[in-house]
Amino acid sequence: MKIFETENDIKDNRLNAKGLSLIPTMGNLHEGHLSLIKAAKNYNNKTIVSIYINPLQFGPNEDFKNYPRTEASDIKKLKKIDCDYAFIPQDNFAKELKLIKAPSISKKLCGKNRPGHFDGVLTIINKIFSVILPSYAFFGLKDYQQFILIREFTKNYFPGIKIIGLPIIREKDGLAMSSRNNLLTRDERKIAPNIYESLKWIKNNRREFSITELVKISSEKLERNNIQIDYLGIFDKQSLKEAKNFEEGALIAIAAKLGKVRLIDNIILDKN
Ligand code: AMP
Repeated sequence: MKIFETENDIKDNRLNAKGLSLIPTMGNLHEGHLSLIKAAKNYNNKTIVSIYINPLQFGPNEDFKNYPRTEASDIKKLKKIDCDYAFIPQDNFAKELKLIKAPSISKKLCGKNRPGHFDGVLTIINKIFSVILPSYAFFGLKDYQQFILIREFTKNYFPGIKIIGLPIIREKDGLAMSSRNNLLTRDERKIAPNIYESLKWIKNNRREFSITELVKISSEKLERNNIQIDYLGIFDKQSLKEAKNFEEGALIAIAAKLGKVRLIDNIILDKN
């Protein structure tokens, strides 16, 4: 696997002339990331994974400093699954970038308590896309709001790049895989599966209760388990507006804190 550290390296090697599938990550790779890479490998292109912990998407009191940094083992994992290239820029990659203002959907869900987060995400994605110019870029639906923002942004500014969204990969106990799971204490890790349980409970009981009742009952249960909810609700899949019934909404989504660690998860309802 060839590793690039600068944008000039990539340009000099004219990587995009060969057709590329890109998987942007912040490293600390787990099976969720690897599932994207495996899917990308089926697209008949060379596969490039970027690893960059983007300072622009962290707020002042967030976990940028503690975010797990595991470059050596990440590289091993990439080599093992036969990834073709990695792009691992220096820390100052995001310096002096002109901040992109994300559209109003960015103010909903995660944007409410993380002002500027999606501006930071789109700014770095814009930069990585312009350096690599892939044919396809792969994202996990765990970060659903990020996915729809990037999909819209790409339609407008990089029409040549196709965005692919892929399902959430979970631990055996249902917890959505996340680099932040490594920041949980043992006790927090034990209660963390309640997050997915609450989403499943809402899905399975959606014909028995109103949305208000569903959210109230599952919020109370989570709070009894010391899980602090940032948001929990049912939303329209496109507009992310809160839904009053399940005809209006197909996304059950949550963000919650266990101690200092903020986790997100969701279920997208199919027609049944
Ligand atoms: P991150 O390194 O957290 O920025 O994630 C990089 C990419 O991996 C994003 O597109 C995420 O949505 C995706 N991803 C993270 N966790 C999972 C998971 N459990 N299942 C599927 N995709 C994931």
